[in-house]
Amino acid sequence: MTVSIALFTQDLRLHDNPVLHAAAAAADQVVPLFVLDPAVEAAGFAAPNRQAFLANCLADLDDGLCRRGSRLVVRHGDPADQAARVAAEAGADTVHVAAGVSAFAHRREARLRELLGDRLRVHDASLTVVPPGDVTPAGKDHYAVFTPYHRAWQQAPRRKVLAAPRALHTPDDVRSERLPTADGTSPALPPGGESEARRHWKRWDPDAYAELHDALAEDGTSRLSPYLHFGCLSANELAARATAHGGEGAEAFVRQLAWRDFHHQVLAARPAVAHQDYRSRHDRWHHDEAEAEAEAWRQGRTGYPIVDAGLRQLLHEGWMHNRARLLTASFLAKSLYLDWRIGARHFLSLLVDGDVANNQLNWQWVAGTGTDTRPNRLLNPLRQALRYDPDGAYVRRWVPELAHLPGPAVHQPWREDAPDYPAPIVDPDSLGARFRHARALD
Ligand SMILES: Cc1cc2nc3c(=O)[nH]c(=O)nc-3n(C[C@H](O)[C@H](O)[C@H](O)COP(=O)(O)OP(=O)(O)OC[C@H]3O[C@@H](n4cnc5c(N)ncnc54)[C@H](O)[C@@H]3O)c2cc1C
Repeated sequence: MTVSIALFTQDLRLHDNPVLHAAAAAADQVVPLFVLDPAVEAAGFAAPNRQAFLANCLADLDDGLCRRGSRLVVRHGDPADQAARVAAEAGADTVHVAAGVSAFAHRREARLRELLGDRLRVHDASLTVVPPGDVTPAGKDHYAVFTPYHRAWQQAPRRKVLAAPRALHTPDDVRSERLPTADGTSPALPPGGESEARRHWKRWDPDAYAELHDALAEDGTSRLSPYLHFGCLSANELAARATAHGGEGAEAFVRQLAWRDFHHQVLAARPAVAHQDYRSRHDRWHHDEAEAEAEAWRQGRTGYPIVDAGLRQLLHEGWMHNRARLLTASFLAKSLYLDWRIGARHFLSLLVDGDVANNQLNWQWVAGTGTDTRPNRLLNPLRQALRYDPDGAYVRRWVPELAHLPGPAVHQPWREDAPDYPAPIVDPDSLGARFRHARALD
């Protein structure tokens, strides 16, 4: 009787899972293993919202495995130590794991290799549509600009979508700890897990996406990001299904999956950009009153309704609309000219889809220290508000103290009667002055 281990990481699913598929093909019995790593918490990455979502994902994965005659084995500790220990207990010949892109994932893989040697099998087509490094410009290890990356990405070969295994056999005598439970901090978190993800995907209609994805009040985006972050859905399967569906909306959606892959391939090649500027602009971020301003921003009390609406959505749902992420991030990094890492940390403390590649590199894109080819662009919150929330419905939903202001008047409460709402934290007439001065743009 041969045994293999499928070590789950950010691929918490049964469908289109190369790790599980290969583990099942390699042996008579499979141990599906997930290791709760205390280092994630020690690194400050275990935000309660994501822990709560993760607990749902693991319960759902266990459920799906049980229905196939197997079960999830959960352990606490260093993932490599635990995988080696379970391999010894079960007499496993091979351990299968998805390749990750962060420095953390690289270290985990190196340690697995140290303990398991050639019994380790790493599957690099698990987390993204196109594996990082599969498309590169001549003589370079990654693309630094999205448009040429996207062109190459569209031409890159795709692997076949894999069906979920029908049945799996797992040795009886491998002990599991209890599945975790956790409460999030945001009251309106989405439920985690592959079953919910697949229901959600079936319900969502991509046809209107091209037209509505930027309309803040419409909620026309897929809201699949948490499921993609935890791998409840495979990006490869989503891209294949959306391409088969066809049309402008599905095409625009697939382009966003390419953005996700783009950031993953940057981080895989340059793991340090999780903390360091990808392209330094020699910023000397604003310091006076920085903590008070950052706190007003975190609480959604900047006096700019569109900014505050986004930040309050984040507090409440653990998720924020992409357009709101862009303009709230631009407000912090450019209008207030505070270090982008302050904002990125706050997002990661709440986002249920909080992801090192997508969060840190989007923050850098907005701050102009990343891959944006126009690093000095500044999003004016008022213009953004009038364009993407023309009637003010998004603001009235999230900023109740302004609910009495009709139509677009809600975007400029400093001109209206709004005694319960803070005054603008920076003067609307000199927005961006700090940034332009610091980058010598005046
Ligand atoms: C400052 C900032 C921080 C961000 N932090 C994160 C984060 O921590 N985790 C995260 O998943 N996304 C992040 N994004 C990207 C984007 O805002 C979210 O992926 C998107 O809003 C999720 O909603 P959705 O699933 O409805 O997206 P849809 O519009 O339906 O897009 C489909 C999928 O494409 C991917 N995607 C879409 N836009 C981007 C993008 N700009 N970059 C990378 N992938 C993208 C996501 O996986 C998303 O689920 C951030 C963007 C900004 C500007």
